[in-house]
Amino acid sequence: MLTLPPPSEMERAYRQSNSSYDGVFYLGVRTTGIFCRPSCGARKPMPKNVVYFATPREALFAGYRPCRRCRPMTAVGQPPAWVEKLIDEVDRNPQRRLTDTDIRSLGVDPTRARRFFRKNHGITFQAYCRSRRLGRALEQIRRGERLDDVALGHGYDSHSGFRDAFSRTFGKPPGKARSTDCISVAWIESPLGPLIAGASDKNLVLLEFTERRMLETQFATLRRHFKCPVIPGENSVLARLRHELTLYFKGELRKFTIPLDFPGSPFQERVWKELQKIPYGKTVSYEDLARKMGTPHAQRAVGHSNGLNRVAILIPCHRVINKNGLLGGYGGGLWRKQALLEMERGKRKYGQPEHPAR
Ligand SMILES: [Zn+2]
Repeated sequence: MLTLPPPSEMERAYRQSNSSYDGVFYLGVRTTGIFCRPSCGARKPMPKNVVYFATPREALFAGYRPCRRCRPMTAVGQPPAWVEKLIDEVDRNPQRRLTDTDIRSLGVDPTRARRFFRKNHGITFQAYCRSRRLGRALEQIRRGERLDDVALGHGYDSHSGFRDAFSRTFGKPPGKARSTDCISVAWIESPLGPLIAGASDKNLVLLEFTERRMLETQFATLRRHFKCPVIPGENSVLARLRHELTLYFKGELRKFTIPLDFPGSPFQERVWKELQKIPYGKTVSYEDLARKMGTPHAQRAVGHSNGLNRVAILIPCHRVINKNGLLGGYGGGLWRKQALLEMERGKRKYGQPEHPAR
């Protein structure tokens, strides 16, 4: 996995339009849904509206579209004109499917287009188009629009057509699998930003702040662990989670009742179980945790497993801090770790989420 520089450094870089950071990270602007390279000359967004990505692919799958000015989809330097033309065509109407004939009519050889995208972006041109369509759709779902409306608005004839397209991108189609054999994923708004949650009909298997990793990687991990399709949807576990999270952020819930499933290596599973024993509002150090597990020398391994936790908040990895009292790291962003801890200590209050998800 690519790692990003610290946010303060990235903020400085894009404020200065520092081109030496081009290719190191990309920034998405929440208010416009556009993503840029750090050197972009467009007006600088407020830091609170910026989301960072390690690759254009991540930005695309999070629903952002490439900036027309700095053209982050092209490798550093000026893209060939024919690529610009193709990208423009997709941007003008992501709903439309470009056939090989359409591509040829733009004076571009489809094979060359595919080769270019694969080489420069690690995806096929068709996958790029699909990611643009689905990225937009995901963005709408995240804003709380109904799945049917989103599907129709994106040129899919039906809900099921949308699901199929989604499955082609994110996993094998549900096929004859029973609904209990798939993991439903949905967005959940929180005062600390949107979370993506995944659950089978019985257990919660994923809860992460979405900036942490790209959706696609998250879904691939779930598919690998659970050997079943991952599709957008709702179920009773997710409904219960929404309810409990709302109470949690209001400071009215200290213990979640939702069953979890978190397969990992035996050591990882031990760490994750140990994390669940840390009481609400309390913190322990990585060292304490290693000692409690009877492996005092495995601090680093404990820290690493802590970072791989897939179920944020409910498996409270945010309650593990450095021995010196400093916060240490947090996959969802250090500010969130701080906010969660302050909230649990009663130093910070949240009401209802600003945009309660349906
Ligand atoms: Zn830009």
